[in-house]
Amino acid sequence: MTDTKVLISGAGVAGAALAHFLHRDGFDVTVVERAPGLRDSGYAVDFRGAAFDVLTEMGVLDEVRRHDTKMRGTALVNAEGIEVGRLPAEAFAGELEIPKPELTRILYRLTEPDITYVFDDSITALTQHPDRITVEFACGAPRDVDLVVGADGLFSTVRRLAFGPHEGILQHLGMSGVGLTTGNILGLDHSGVLQQGDGTALYAFSATDADRMSVSLSFATAAPTLDRCPRSEQERAVRAAFADHGWVVPQLLDAMSAADDFYFSSSSQVHLNAWSNGRVVLVGDAGYCAAPTAGMGTSQALIGARTLARHLASAGVDHASAFAAYEAELRPYAADNQRIGREGAAAFGART
Ligand SMILES: Cc1cc2nc3c(=O)[nH]c(=O)nc-3n(C[C@H](O)[C@H](O)[C@H](O)COP(=O)(O)OP(=O)(O)OC[C@H]3O[C@@H](n4cnc5c(N)ncnc54)[C@H](O)[C@@H]3O)c2cc1C
Repeated sequence: MTDTKVLISGAGVAGAALAHFLHRDGFDVTVVERAPGLRDSGYAVDFRGAAFDVLTEMGVLDEVRRHDTKMRGTALVNAEGIEVGRLPAEAFAGELEIPKPELTRILYRLTEPDITYVFDDSITALTQHPDRITVEFACGAPRDVDLVVGADGLFSTVRRLAFGPHEGILQHLGMSGVGLTTGNILGLDHSGVLQQGDGTALYAFSATDADRMSVSLSFATAAPTLDRCPRSEQERAVRAAFADHGWVVPQLLDAMSAADDFYFSSSSQVHLNAWSNGRVVLVGDAGYCAAPTAGMGTSQALIGARTLARHLASAGVDHASAFAAYEAELRPYAADNQRIGREGAAAFGART
C-alpha cells in the first residue's frame, strides 16, 4: 500500500519509530510535534526483550549501545543513608540503558531525511469521513489524510479527540513524584541510591555529566490531579510527603525548588477497550501506558510501533483489519506490562 497519507501526532519514541517503519514500507508520513524542537530533556530509558530486535531492524542498535550509561547497580540505604543492601543494575537500567535525549536524537537523525516533521503545532480537531479524515491544527492549515496515529504520550490529544476525556481512561496508581537534576552531592559513579520509607521513595542516580545526579522523589498519593496543578502546589505536596526525612533530603528539597529541569509526573496507566476508532489508532503510552513503575515504556513504544507498521504494510488498504490484528497481537504483552506496573507501584508503597 503506497501513497497512503499517515499523520503521526508526537515525535517521541513511538512516533519516530513508527515513522521510520511506515516510510520504509512506502507510506507518506508526516509527524506533528507540539514541542518547538527536538526534546533534549529527560532521564535515562532502558530496553528489554524484543526491543533489541526493533533496534536491530532499524539499524541503530550499535549507535544506541555507544550511549550505554553503564550503570553498576543501586545501593539500598536506610533513613540515615547507610547502605543496607544492593540491587543489580538491571533493576532500573534493564538490559541496556541510555539517556533519553540520545535516543530521541538517534531516532530523529534516522528519520529526518525522509519524514516531514512539523514542530510547534498540535492537532485540534479530527473529522472522520468514509474515505479520509480531516485534521485541524492549532497553527497549520487543515488537511485530509488517510490515517491518524496518536503517539503523543500519556496525555494524548489524539486520544482525547477520538476516544474521550482523560478521566475514565487514565488510571492513577496512587503514586506521584518529581524528577530533577542537581549537583552530585552523593558522589555517585555509574550507580544509584534508593531510600524507601513509609509511602515515599528517593532514588538518586548518576547523570550524563559526572558532576550532576538525577533525583526522583516519589510519594504515595490519592490525588491524580496533581499532574495538572501549578508547580508551587506540586512542590508543596512533595515537601509535605518528605517533611520528616533527614539525611540529604532537606538539601534535595531545596534543589527541587531551584531546579530548571523540574518535572512532575504520576504513575498512571492508560486503559481502553479498543486502541483504534475508525481511521485513528494509538501507539505507545498514548494507547496502553504501563506506568514508569513497569520500566517497559520505551520497549513497549518500539515494539508497538513495529507491530502496527507490520500489520499496516501487510493489510493493503484495509486499515481496519490492520488495526485489529495489531491490537490482537500486542494486547497480551501490554496487559502483562501493566500488571508489572501495578505491582511496581504497590512495591513502592503506592496508595491505591
Ligand atoms: C518519570 C518517568 C520515568 C520513566 N522511566 C522509564 C524507564 O526507566 N524505562 C523506560 O523504558 N521507560 C521509562 N519511562 C517511560 C518512557 O519515557 C515512555 O514510556 C516512553 O517514552 C513512551 O514513548 P511514547 O513515544 O509513547 O511517548 P513519549 O516519549 O512521551 O512521546 C510523546 C511525544 O508526543 C509529544 N506530544 C504530546 N502532546 C502532543 C500534542 N498534542 N501534539 C503533538 N505532539 C505531542 C510529546 O512532546 C512527545 O514528544 C518513564 C516515564 C516517566 C514519566
